[in-house]
Amino acid sequence: MLLYQFLLKRGLESRKSQEEFFKLMLSAMEEGGVKIIQAPTGTGKTYGYLIPIVEKGQKAIISTGTKLLQEQLRRDLEVIKSYAGYILGNHVSYVVLKGKSNYLCLDRYYAEAQKVPELEMAINSGWDGDFEFVNLDVDLREKLCVDDDYCTPYYRNMCKYRYECYYWSKLKNLEKSAQILIINHALLSLREFENPEERLLVIDEAHELDKYITSSLKTGFSTYTLRIDILGRIREFLPSAHVDIESFFTDNFEHLFKEGKEEVALENLCPYAEDFEKRIMTALFSLYQRVKEEVMHSIHSFLKERLFVSLKLKDYLLNSGVLAWEDYLKINSNYEELSQEEEKLLKKLKTYQLLTKRLTRLKEFFQLMKEEKPEMGYMVSRSWSRKLQTYNYRLECFPVFPSGFIDFSGYKAVVITSATANPIDLEKTLGIVGDYYELEHTLPYHQIDFVVYLVDPREEDWKDCLMRAYKYLRTLYDKVLILLTNREHMKLFEKEEGLAFQGEDSLSKLVEHLREGRIKALAGLDSLWFGIDVKGEKGLLMAKLPFESPEDPITFHRIRFLKSVGEDPFEYQKRKALIKFQQGIGRLIRSKEDRGTIVLCDKRIFKFKEFLRVVEKLGIKVRVVKMLK
Ligand code: SF4
Repeated sequence: MLLYQFLLKRGLESRKSQEEFFKLMLSAMEEGGVKIIQAPTGTGKTYGYLIPIVEKGQKAIISTGTKLLQEQLRRDLEVIKSYAGYILGNHVSYVVLKGKSNYLCLDRYYAEAQKVPELEMAINSGWDGDFEFVNLDVDLREKLCVDDDYCTPYYRNMCKYRYECYYWSKLKNLEKSAQILIINHALLSLREFENPEERLLVIDEAHELDKYITSSLKTGFSTYTLRIDILGRIREFLPSAHVDIESFFTDNFEHLFKEGKEEVALENLCPYAEDFEKRIMTALFSLYQRVKEEVMHSIHSFLKERLFVSLKLKDYLLNSGVLAWEDYLKINSNYEELSQEEEKLLKKLKTYQLLTKRLTRLKEFFQLMKEEKPEMGYMVSRSWSRKLQTYNYRLECFPVFPSGFIDFSGYKAVVITSATANPIDLEKTLGIVGDYYELEHTLPYHQIDFVVYLVDPREEDWKDCLMRAYKYLRTLYDKVLILLTNREHMKLFEKEEGLAFQGEDSLSKLVEHLREGRIKALAGLDSLWFGIDVKGEKGLLMAKLPFESPEDPITFHRIRFLKSVGEDPFEYQKRKALIKFQQGIGRLIRSKEDRGTIVLCDKRIFKFKEFLRVVEKLGIKVRVVKMLK
């Protein structure tokens, strides 16, 4: 490939596994089908799929885990794009697509009385409407984002800003013509993008695919939605309306949040349905009835006072379903655009309709609450809300295994890849089946010092050993990563100097601080096992083998479900822990220059031999340290 040859001359390191990746990509383009490629750290898998796509001018959709990774892909593609123009004369067009709620709705923004300086500046400087690039409060984003309940297809056609709309006009036009769409896994299951025909689908970071798909399929309600989205809108019509929403959540669920837990699995939601109906549904729907009467009264008195209304208002009244056909026929219209008063009425109607949509969803969710389905999982979670000045509780349900929620029909071919792509896991959790390829690793794993402290995490002295292991790594390295499996264990490190915890700042900033030596250690949970990149010499402390806690709501329901169908849930738990363990090891060595020591405080690695085999297969020698009591 010309582009690859050129990049080699410009200093790109040649890698056998990357060349293997190219071949697999080319055969996918020719033959179609589904390929699952395990490409270990150091393969250069991003270039592995980008170079053949660009070189062949192939239309493609690339899906990755997070918005952060989408931005990373954008940067890589920009590099390839500049060389492709120069070497191949190819113009590569691409677009980064995120969920609708990431973009500003101009209509909602201009309906606000107060202007926001950050947004004013962005709007006037060629911004693409993506909130990622403006510093905005989360609550405000939620209020101003593109929302299907607000921007219904009919309203979209008459929106004043439809031609400038960031999402429906600019982005969607780019999407139609772009050669490459960069999406994320949540969008992949929703298929919120142009029809995939003739496109090659690449799913990167596939080890977390089922987690993202499950999260994107969660449906539920929160105190925030009930209080701000529903009751808040009711109050625009009935200012003194009151419903005690919080007490339903605190009375029923607060006692479940013990020992720092913020998410709790629930067997089902049936036991709460009656109370939910009594304290929330009935109260909200009786207020809604009053709102409806008031809105109807406003419309009818408005129409009564006028001989003519605009064509747009007349059509809107019919198409939005607010007026009955007979009433519609009585309206006369002789001008096109909305008058100022009509605009005011329309604003009122929009609020009413948004309220109607939200309440319809609430009703649908209430139906789900009353049913108990073995293939569904249920949970309650809470997080502190600055706006509510209390906890925001969220009740949710989700498919236990999101099998069948990704539809591969219509794609030219599908390539699924990750450093730890596991075909059995993809089949069991997502129902994905394909040809499996395992590429060779190329990094100097044999230079890793892998130390196992012979201690059982279930015993008393484990915490002490963990701290000793940490001190040991700190004497050797200026950079230490601490991979934990339980939030509670963060407390053990609270008094340590120069140590930061995941969540104190954005992960990218914390990693930057570690790279630059502003902190000496970084401790965290999942995101540290999976998604960070710190180059150079470092120590890596693995608190224990990363079995998901059976109390985690998704794991809880998967275990329950597997038991109910007669399968051994431990096989599932082990598979997931192995993937996480492999990813954890991958945090130490990201390039040929990296070196370091891993300490694992868990002697069970000698009991569950699969974990030991992963280490040995990489050529890593294991050193054992006996712990003296
Ligand atoms: S078309 Fe829809 S999303 Fe776009 S500005 Fe208008 S209302 Fe907002």
